[in-house]
Amino acid sequence: MALEKMSLQDLQRQLSLDRADELKQRIVPYLAEVKGIPTGKTLALEYAEKRERILAYFGATLQDWENWRWQMRTRISDVQTLDAIMDGPMMSSDPKAYSAWMEQIAKVGSTYRWAISPYYLSLMDWTNPTDPIAVQGLPSLPEIDSDTGEEDPMGEAVTSPAPCITRRYPDRLIINVTNVCGMYCRHCQRRRNIGEVDVQNSREDLAAALEYVRANPEIRDVLITGGDALMLSDQTLEWLLSELHGMEHVEIKRLGTRAPVTLPQRVTPKLVKILAKYPPLYINTQFNHPKEVTADAKKAVDRLISAGVVMGNQAVLLKGVNADPHIMKKLNQDLLKIRVRPYYLFHAKHVKGTTHFVPSIQEGLNIMRELRGFTSGLAVPTYIVNAPNGGGKTPLLPQYLLSLDEEKAVLRTWEDKVVTIDN
Ligand SMILES: *Cc1c(COP(=O)(O)O)cnc(C)c1O
Ligand code: SF4
Repeated sequence: MALEKMSLQDLQRQLSLDRADELKQRIVPYLAEVKGIPTGKTLALEYAEKRERILAYFGATLQDWENWRWQMRTRISDVQTLDAIMDGPMMSSDPKAYSAWMEQIAKVGSTYRWAISPYYLSLMDWTNPTDPIAVQGLPSLPEIDSDTGEEDPMGEAVTSPAPCITRRYPDRLIINVTNVCGMYCRHCQRRRNIGEVDVQNSREDLAAALEYVRANPEIRDVLITGGDALMLSDQTLEWLLSELHGMEHVEIKRLGTRAPVTLPQRVTPKLVKILAKYPPLYINTQFNHPKEVTADAKKAVDRLISAGVVMGNQAVLLKGVNADPHIMKKLNQDLLKIRVRPYYLFHAKHVKGTTHFVPSIQEGLNIMRELRGFTSGLAVPTYIVNAPNGGGKTPLLPQYLLSLDEEKAVLRTWEDKVVTIDN
């Protein structure tokens, strides 16, 4: 009896060990690749060195660096300044490539403006125009080379029932409070509104937007964004939040901001104190690459979480930045480490000047396929395509349901095993 039990156990253990070996094999390619992916953690020293060089150039102090208004004021937006700061290793090793890079920035910059915070510049590889930080922050030729893409593919102009409002869903809406951002992301889908002239929407318009919410009791979820919601002053933000907080039918409030990524200094103790007063508050940000998950970003996120804010991430799938299964997996895992839950992965739209960023939907699906099962479900965002003309967010999933009839469902597992279950 005891012997039979032992041998069954032994058999089960042996099968489990074999299976564990098989699973171990599944992660080998990732483990080999991930060592080569630069992250905010592995580059911490380099970032600090660059911070010192930038501070020296501006004759500024660490205290200035920590001040978000200094970061905004000191944004780099012309090639002369950029060149004066970055002029270094690449200049001496490959002066031709370096000046071609600078010329390209100057040329494209005369069509589309750019501006990056000293902080975000400190994350950049100054010798590499294809660095994911450079690609997101500095202009490049494809922006003006291609004529494809539309100006307003989201149809935002025809889904605005009141000033500043975009409504596409039954129970929730967006209030666009400003078109100002810490950085003019090169891939920005709202390029039509962002990155030309800075406009803070007027108090009257914002008040009219609040009135619309007040008058429509089915609205239970209000998303304050832009632009970047945290580009508002503490005062204006508090006014909006307290007004919404006072409406009984508004169950949750959300902010959309890239500040934790491009301008973490914005998350001050004072701001956090205000946010803590108006729960439940959800903040979605936009980390696109593991290089952006820095100690400063973590500090900003920690502060927000300590105020009771629930953090999520809405990455954009971008060629040359994160359209790669290993980079995407690393990004989402690193976000979990700082308690930011991957929420959406957006398939970029064909917006004029940004089409060079857009991968194929098949590439996006392949990335999703390499996440599910291979890593924590918490690290798997929903892959979203925005339907044209304000049709709304449409989720895409690799095929897991191979066929379905009245009796059977044929499924594909994450490991590509085909199984049949009763319906
Ligand atoms: C994205 C979006 C929302 C929020 O959508 P969720 O799927 O709930 O995150 C709400 N309103 C508009 C207009 C949007 O574009
Ligand atoms: S933060 Fe968002 S809205 Fe602002 S430029 Fe970047 S992508 Fe566009």
